[in-house]
Amino acid sequence: PATGNPWVVKLGDGRVEKSQKLCLAMGSLAHSGLVRIIESLDHQVLPLVPSLFAFNLKNHPMKDLSGISVPLARVRILPKSPYREGPLLITHRGLSGPAILKLSAWEARDLHERGHRFSVEVNWLGQKDGESVRSMVRTFRETRATSKLGSNPITELPKRLWARILERAGIPEDRTWAHLPKAEEEKLIATLVACEFEVDGKTTNKDEFVTCGGVSLKEVDFRTMESRLRPGLHFAGECLDLDGVTGGFNFQAAWTTGRIAGSAIASPL
Ligand SMILES: Cc1cc2nc3c(=O)[nH]c(=O)nc-3n(C[C@H](O)[C@H](O)[C@H](O)COP(=O)(O)OP(=O)(O)OC[C@H]3O[C@@H](n4cnc5c(N)ncnc54)[C@H](O)[C@@H]3O)c2cc1C
Repeated sequence: PATGNPWVVKLGDGRVEKSQKLCLAMGSLAHSGLVRIIESLDHQVLPLVPSLFAFNLKNHPMKDLSGISVPLARVRILPKSPYREGPLLITHRGLSGPAILKLSAWEARDLHERGHRFSVEVNWLGQKDGESVRSMVRTFRETRATSKLGSNPITELPKRLWARILERAGIPEDRTWAHLPKAEEEKLIATLVACEFEVDGKTTNKDEFVTCGGVSLKEVDFRTMESRLRPGLHFAGECLDLDGVTGGFNFQAAWTTGRIAGSAIASPL
């Protein structure tokens, strides 16, 4: 800006606009040439990394199951990120759905540092843990002793997914519940509640929904969305270091900050 304002904006068609107030609301800064300009105004732009993306699986072991989903899965990044929950979808590239998108948002920085190569653990049964599955197996051993595992899933999983889980656990489909060896039982439980996959990349660049990072929130007055460093400069939306999980939180952040900035800019005029 020129001394004492006005702000000067050069438009693409060569026109020049001057104003007392300026609101930057250009969305993600990830592929924007404006980062340099914002930094030249003494603002800090926190590292820009992708968020809300699906995972590509290495040698995708479930590619033929793409389109299959479970209503509630628990997922975490190994060795020990917190668990995230929600519906999970197997895609032709890997894993997606709200559970995965949420995990990608919470772990965005860590996953970026790892080059989006990591291990993910899936609990296909959501909140059921190893102990509760063990007790379900006990019940099945008693009540369905002569039934085959292949046609008698322990829980309501899509048939083809159940068949793949048995295969991964190394259990023949015609094994009966009564004759399930202890070692196979343990393998089955582990495959159901702690199924591990190697992730090799995320959905293609720019396919992610939102950018994590942006203009530092410490430098912005939330009552007006005005810069604390440059009077008359306002920020709104995704250009800020503000991102949320799925569920409309990013839209809401953009609308709310846009409304506050717009009202503040309009009020003294
Ligand atoms: C595929 C996809 C799905 C999504 N789904 C969801 C969802 O379900 N829920 C949710 O909450 N969020 C979702 N998001 C994220 C959400 O769309 C964004 O967080 C939100 O739109 C950000 O709003 P914004 O106004 O800050 O930026 P944008 O909506 O990106 O708008 C910025 C505008 O500024 C313009 N612009 C950029 N640079 C310049 C410049 N130099 N000069 C002039 N104009 C410029 C752009 O052309 C654009 O029109 C999704 C995003 C994508 C890509």
